[in-house]
Amino acid sequence: MATATLKPKTRLAPKVRQTQLLIDGKWCDAKSGKTFATYHPATEEKIADVAEGDAADIDRAAKAARKAFESGEWPKMDARDRGRLLNRLADLVEQNFDELAALETLDNGKPIRDARAADLPLVIDCLRYYAGWADKITGDTIPIRGDYFCYTRREPLGVAGQIIPWNFPLLMAAWKWSPALAAGCTLVMKPAEQTPLSCLKLGELAIEAGFPKGVINIVPGYGPTAGAALVKHPDVDKIAFTGEYRTAQIIMADAAQTLKRLTFELGGKSPNVIFADADLDAAVAGTEFGLFFNQGQCCCAGSRVFVEEKIHDAFVEKLVKRAKTRKLGDPFDPETSQGPQIDVDQFDKIMSYIDKGKEAGAKCVTGGKRWGKKGFFIEPTVFDNVTDDMPIATDEIFGPVMGILPFKKVDEVIDRANKTFYGLAAAVWTRDVSKAHKLAASIRAGTVWINCYDVFDAAAPFGGFKMSGIGRELGAAALANYTELKTVTMNLA
Ligand code: ADP
Repeated sequence: MATATLKPKTRLAPKVRQTQLLIDGKWCDAKSGKTFATYHPATEEKIADVAEGDAADIDRAAKAARKAFESGEWPKMDARDRGRLLNRLADLVEQNFDELAALETLDNGKPIRDARAADLPLVIDCLRYYAGWADKITGDTIPIRGDYFCYTRREPLGVAGQIIPWNFPLLMAAWKWSPALAAGCTLVMKPAEQTPLSCLKLGELAIEAGFPKGVINIVPGYGPTAGAALVKHPDVDKIAFTGEYRTAQIIMADAAQTLKRLTFELGGKSPNVIFADADLDAAVAGTEFGLFFNQGQCCCAGSRVFVEEKIHDAFVEKLVKRAKTRKLGDPFDPETSQGPQIDVDQFDKIMSYIDKGKEAGAKCVTGGKRWGKKGFFIEPTVFDNVTDDMPIATDEIFGPVMGILPFKKVDEVIDRANKTFYGLAAAVWTRDVSKAHKLAASIRAGTVWINCYDVFDAAAPFGGFKMSGIGRELGAAALANYTELKTVTMNLA
């Protein structure tokens, strides 16, 4: 994970916050006049009321995005100038680093040190990486039979509808905006209802950067209203969605009528495999990070930790010790390494899985309880002696709950690691190069980390096999999500 100098001065996020919808370059209220509240998960206090967009606002935003795609400055702009705008936005994110990091911590509850060391640097890298791509999206010349000149063009797909979750609000916006804008699309984003603030701030910066009106539209609101309206809107060509697979199923059905292009980045139950020949301390540190980072609210969280029997006891002892050193508390405190879960629904869901783990007979070796009296904090929790069929081993928990599953043999662990309908990520810890690559090839997942975890880079594709998604984000791969391929054939005879 990228690092940045840690000098947090901001204990409280700025008082002035953008809370309106961004449609056609203007900030406005929802047509209905409705608002919804967003809360600080550490104190459960209201931060602000935010305009609640619904179908009427999505309609305005989609039409603005369509118009900006068809006419105006954007379609006439040279690709290189689109890249300059993305770089300018990255500059502004750098200039507003403190405020954006504080907003993220305020709205999401993540430790400020994570927002500063991980989220913000990755956002900036992502914008700059795709800024570089804007003028490098090319087609091919194709030697077809006969006296013809045949070539392909990669043209912008059109209007992208983008729906994101609350776990990395700003980073998910950057992952979605950057390739779309580099490719020449326009977009309508619906941020998660729990965390709209940093995305709205990014909208302010996009206007300052000089993106033409209608290119970037932001409509906060709820999934079944604003989100569903975006999915069904005939002016929207594509939906890029990150969230739960159950929501993706609804989106897929809703998108059928207009045959929208769909890319999904969904959940996981990622196996993290520790062999006896691994560097034990490194594996313990990576395993702690791989699950507890971001309060366990990562789609790629290493929640099924397969540990070779020979080192099981030593591994668990060291891991528990590390888990106990995690510092829970005020996420604005630079020492805090674990903040609260996002909201009461997630808190209740996670606590119910902890109960299920205990009922199923897994051994809770640390944690297992609420932390403090205010805020949605949960102790870092480790279950030992977990078996493959327990709910804590099969279901995505999306919280700080790790399951340890002992194993004996390589083939056995490959089989068991693959026994899930998810396929987002996996990790393997070993000093044996052949074993490492055998696992990398055998585990059906979109990302495999070897002797590391959660190493993200704007250049490296990320996405899921099986029920973990469709398509890839990041890297050159993501550009395909935002372009249509056109074949042109000219008669030379
Ligand atoms: P999470 O558990 O992370 O909140 P969801 O899949 O419920 O995952 O939500 C992710 C995003 O999808 C949010 O922005 C949410 O508002 C949106 N969403 C939820 N339901 C729908 C729906 N029916 N159609 C479109 N978007 C939806």
